[in-house]
Amino acid sequence: MTRAEVVIDLEALRHNVSLLVERASGAESMAVVKADGYGHGAVPVAQAALQAGVTWLGSCSLDEALTLREAGIDAPILSWLDGPAEDFSAAVAAGVDVGVSSVEQLRALSGARVHLKVDTGLSRNGCPPARWAELVRAAAASDNEVYAVWSHLACADEPGHPSVDLQAKAFDEAYDIAREAGLTPKRHLANSAATLNRPDLHYDMVRLGIAMYGLNPLRQKEDLRPVMSFRSEVALVKRVSAGSSVSYGHTWTATRDTTLALVTAGYADGVPRLLSNRMDVWLAGARRPIRGRVCMDQVIVDCGDAEVSVGDEVVLFGSGARGEPTATEWAETIGTIDYEIVTGMYRPRVRRRYVG
Ligand SMILES: *Cc1c(COP(=O)(O)O)cnc(C)c1O
Repeated sequence: MTRAEVVIDLEALRHNVSLLVERASGAESMAVVKADGYGHGAVPVAQAALQAGVTWLGSCSLDEALTLREAGIDAPILSWLDGPAEDFSAAVAAGVDVGVSSVEQLRALSGARVHLKVDTGLSRNGCPPARWAELVRAAAASDNEVYAVWSHLACADEPGHPSVDLQAKAFDEAYDIAREAGLTPKRHLANSAATLNRPDLHYDMVRLGIAMYGLNPLRQKEDLRPVMSFRSEVALVKRVSAGSSVSYGHTWTATRDTTLALVTAGYADGVPRLLSNRMDVWLAGARRPIRGRVCMDQVIVDCGDAEVSVGDEVVLFGSGARGEPTATEWAETIGTIDYEIVTGMYRPRVRRRYVG
């Protein structure tokens, strides 16, 4: 029996990638596969994305980048969140490009290909503008190859947010300073949201994350197909009478006789306990409510008078095509973002299965 399983639809992924590559209108595309491919599996996602037209891969650490190389992937890879203490000789040996945010980090690098990152307003990673001229001069004088200048947007998922234009302006200024230092780098700035809604900011490459996984960062309608679904099975069915209370704390009580189905996925498998009494599952052809508290290993679903049997498939979240809940609906219900839901699905106990 299947306790709990995550199904990754690589055909949906390739569909999304093709759509996004098309929207990038001539710029190259990087598939961002950090956090084990947003919980979908970095290696299979990278391979499928390369088949569908991306030419670059992005990871947030050298470890993640080297995992891709060990799997035999030879496409260009950028790793961007490594501190100056990292041993970068492995990056050079494996041909992994390094994102550089400081002179200290640059000094740890020799013979590497680097992407100089400027902080244009996110105030996170990236070199602050006050130190940018120093960084580009040091890079120009070093034995590293400066491949690109890049930055990351704070509010691209809020169309019209004034910070986007301000960041773009700061980015253009930083590029001019790099040119004055004698560099002729490429440029990249756009994430998924900016790929979809700011074609003027595509520059030489876009970095595709959440949209590639089929989750739309914008309110505008897009033909994106969620890649991950989360399934389980009914392990036990029982009829209870009106007045029966369900699960720890007895937070729900049946108002009439009903059939309960026990489903073997709980908060240890990625079902947030905050969804207790607040979410449906797809079971026996309909949405049916979770009753009572989500437990560590199981949830209880109210099936009314429907015919349900042990072994019936349960979709906890899916593409939404049949009306089943989606990762986005989960996120909205508990006050987070779908990024956190899908990246949180990488758990040793939950099997991952690839289709398509
Ligand atoms: C995660 C990340 C992306 C992708 O962002 P999405 O919103 O998922 O498209 C792009 N660039 C950088 C630097 C990132 O960290």
